[in-house]
Amino acid sequence: MDHTKILLDENDMPKQWYNILADLPVEPPLNPATREPMNPKDLEPIFAKELIKQEISSERYITIPEEVREIYKLWRPSPLYRAHRLEKALGTPAKIYYKNEGVSPAGSHKPNTAIAQAYYNMKEGTERISTETGAGQWGSALSLSCNYFGIECKVYMVRSSFYQKPYRKSLINLWGANVVPSPSPDTQFGRKILEMYPDTTGSLGIAISEAIEDAALNDNTKYALGSVLNHTCLHQTVVGLETQKQFEMTEDYPDIVIGCCGGGSNLAGVSLPYIRDNIAGKTSTRIIAVEPSACPSLTGGKFEYDFGDMAQMTPLLKMYTLGSGFIPPAIHAGGLRYHGASPIVSKLVADKFMEARAYHQVEVFDAAVTFARSEGIAPAPESSHAIKAAIDEAIKCKQTGQEKTILFNLSGHGHFDMGSYDKYFTGDLTNE
Ligand SMILES: *Cc1c(COP(=O)(O)O)cnc(C)c1O
Repeated sequence: MDHTKILLDENDMPKQWYNILADLPVEPPLNPATREPMNPKDLEPIFAKELIKQEISSERYITIPEEVREIYKLWRPSPLYRAHRLEKALGTPAKIYYKNEGVSPAGSHKPNTAIAQAYYNMKEGTERISTETGAGQWGSALSLSCNYFGIECKVYMVRSSFYQKPYRKSLINLWGANVVPSPSPDTQFGRKILEMYPDTTGSLGIAISEAIEDAALNDNTKYALGSVLNHTCLHQTVVGLETQKQFEMTEDYPDIVIGCCGGGSNLAGVSLPYIRDNIAGKTSTRIIAVEPSACPSLTGGKFEYDFGDMAQMTPLLKMYTLGSGFIPPAIHAGGLRYHGASPIVSKLVADKFMEARAYHQVEVFDAAVTFARSEGIAPAPESSHAIKAAIDEAIKCKQTGQEKTILFNLSGHGHFDMGSYDKYFTGDLTNE
């Protein structure tokens, strides 16, 4: 039997991120007051300058700072697995590979951008960073990263997840950040929402408004976003670039690349280097974005300019959106409960470089269990959307006798999601 785990040497970790804006420009963010393209200067009270520069850069490759690579080395290069046992369980002639981003200290792909964002903020003298978190993955990744660079960190965590995932909060505290359930009494916007909707489950849109208000009102504070923006997709390309080097060590090359999509960063990370090669005419790899039916921005939203947050404080982004006031049901894939999707991913879907599909929560957990019982890893509910699509594609291969090679990004492990698995096994997990 050939490889189960394809490992790269530390020194073969990519030295640059790939910036797709060089090959495929996206429409610029608009100033909400004037509806004119945003002046980058206007973002400086909120974001580190270097991140604003990367947000609009058209340089094809951007060097990963050595201090960032040093920290990446704690878990990178991450392993690429050949899912022999899953293939066997499905009886498919397809070859299934998955990139395991669950091996990072925070348990997901999110530190790939959190470390970079904390680093540039440290360089520019930022003393404190505010942010929001859904399921807690981003909050813990940023807490970890701020800890390494001596930056104070305040996390507004969506209320439904704060209570569903108490140990994410503990992890955020362990690395030294302060975390509160959102809406919180700590901001004007939070107090307003608490008054209007005391029983709200919260949403990423609300938590983003709180974190931005915090950064706007405090001089020593900048804001960080874990997904959606171009620079987060840029930083995540280390994932796809590594897989390309890893595939060189096999006889295979992926016909299909799959990622789950919340804001779009892990999907962008695994797929953009393949899309680069598609655009260059070298390959024709299919790319599939997978989202929850309960929050279907790519498959059920409109492609238009919209706000990134509920208080309508962010610049307007051209993206697939369900509307900035949309509050999704409290599904267990908290990281996929966002009303919009990254402008890069949105453009790729609109221009047909990428397909999009949606699945219901219960069928996603069915797939997660099949995966856990073959490959052993307990996947995050978010990542299980990608697993479900990979399994469906592998079953199609079985029906048609095609030996396709399928790659999916296992964006994180589910060790903090066992409450959701419990509900699945007692039959209390529903589709809404
Ligand atoms: C945050 C998160 C996601 C969704 O975010 P993207 O930006 O779409 O990648 C998916 N999987 C895991 C494990 C996450 O933590």
